[in-house]
Amino acid sequence: MSKSVQNHRITHPKSPLTCEIAVIGSGPGGAITACLLAEAGRDVLLIEEGSYFSLESCRAFSQAELEQKYRNGGLTAAFGKPKIQYVEGRCVGGGSEINSGLYHRTPPEILEKWQTEFAVESLTEAELLPHFEACEQAVTVCKLPGKPPLASLKLHQGAVSLGWQSLEVPRWFRYQAQTDPAVTPKGTRQSMTQTFIPRAIDAGCKLLTNTRINFIRKQGKQWFIKGNYIPDYQSKQAVEIQAKTLFICCGAIQTPALLRRSGITKNIGNSLQMHSTVKVIAQFNEIVNSKDMGVPVHQVKEFSPRFSFGCSISSPPYLAVGMTDHPQYKHEVDQNWQKMAIYYAMITGQGQGSVRCLPGFRDPLVRYHLTQQDLKDLSEALQKLSQLLFEAGAKILYPSISNFPRLTQPNDLKHIPDLLPKSQTNLMTVHVMSSCPMGENLEKCAANSFGKVHGFDNLYISDASLLCTAPGVNPQGSIMAITRRNVLKFLGKL
Ligand SMILES: Cc1cc2nc3c(=O)[nH]c(=O)nc-3n(C[C@H](O)[C@H](O)[C@H](O)COP(=O)(O)OP(=O)(O)OC[C@H]3O[C@@H](n4cnc5c(N)ncnc54)[C@H](O)[C@@H]3O)c2cc1C
Repeated sequence: MSKSVQNHRITHPKSPLTCEIAVIGSGPGGAITACLLAEAGRDVLLIEEGSYFSLESCRAFSQAELEQKYRNGGLTAAFGKPKIQYVEGRCVGGGSEINSGLYHRTPPEILEKWQTEFAVESLTEAELLPHFEACEQAVTVCKLPGKPPLASLKLHQGAVSLGWQSLEVPRWFRYQAQTDPAVTPKGTRQSMTQTFIPRAIDAGCKLLTNTRINFIRKQGKQWFIKGNYIPDYQSKQAVEIQAKTLFICCGAIQTPALLRRSGITKNIGNSLQMHSTVKVIAQFNEIVNSKDMGVPVHQVKEFSPRFSFGCSISSPPYLAVGMTDHPQYKHEVDQNWQKMAIYYAMITGQGQGSVRCLPGFRDPLVRYHLTQQDLKDLSEALQKLSQLLFEAGAKILYPSISNFPRLTQPNDLKHIPDLLPKSQTNLMTVHVMSSCPMGENLEKCAANSFGKVHGFDNLYISDASLLCTAPGVNPQGSIMAITRRNVLKFLGKL
């Protein structure tokens, strides 16, 4: 932790704390909000439930990372048929500290849809362009200056051989200037603790970590924010914060949960969307994986926006977890993990979910309903991805369907049913959004076109919840640009 962060971090909060603007949640939405407000000279307090960890505090994609930086160690599910496992970051920097850094701008047709269906103002491609460019520069979005991981190349080769569109996706990573083009460079992820949070702190923003906010209430002109400061497992201290203006940036699950716990419910937590994802472990005859494989960078966009493919983190622990769908072959991971990698097919989807708070429970109840079309898309996506992997030379495929026969030749693809079996298919997602959509359509939207909660003064949402629908691409690029646009509007600088 830098000296500056140490100096601005509140370690023994006195209650009540007061500030002009409180920002709750320090993921991309919260970190960028706090940074731009502090740089504009505002008195800002950034509050985060999780702890502050440096990027180097643990190995990326390790078990230690799951324990330190994920909510509930990554074990969270949206209930429905089938259930969908989702994950959220819970540390200073939120999801940006644990993600793969794959960057996309919001597709123009999605922006058009949001303007038409949700009546979002000032959201054309041209209007967002300066915000994309500024964020890309701030987090150093770039391509890999070296050789992509072998497992990623397999995906690319399979797609090219079938004549399908495949691309290298740029990432928010910083690489050493000189790298050997024959080697896969490591680089440093430009998460929020590397970029916007130090900037916010340098501009005078205060940081209160290990503090979970339970409730907000408006009294007169002030927002009263109540939570608990929990610096370790033995201590817990009630904290109250008073602020004139409040930005809620707790992510697409926790933002609606906090608002609903506080009695703010209109269009809040009713329209959650996620990119539902089905996975396949592919086994090749040759080595495709290594301890230093890094993050795969290719995505196949041939069938986009309906679905797209990519390669996942494929470390032995991740392979072992994936193989629980095929327990009789789990020994393959011990013996052959270097010849194995995990691939995914992600749908944009039409399904929707809800976030609700249950009395006496800390975590919200998340439900998700996939439509018949979603199940069909997942099935078609799995078939096409499997076809691609055989084309790339895979010898055995293990789909994430419990006890489903493994696939050993292209002819086996006909065994994948047109609708994936609801009770056996294991879906997951790392992209949740749209639980409090923005726009002027009062039937659907929780906040106005710039994130101000409809019907409330000085209350804003600034995170993935605002995206009107699933964008069909990795969402952090959209979250960053929309956050920047909304904060500049708040500051009267748009
Ligand atoms: C494993 C993984 C891989 C991903 N890969 C990519 C990728 O390659 N590219 C991409 O674009 N996106 C990716 N994503 C998604 C991306 O990280 C998220 O979309 C993004 O982080 C969401 O930002 P946010 O600000 O909305 O919320 P978050 O990042 O979720 O941050 C919310 C923060 O608020 C805090 N908080 C929540 N509730 C409270 C409370 N009550 N009180 C105080 N604090 C609270 C949380 O602890 C958290 O730190 C990935 C996500 C994960 C988990």
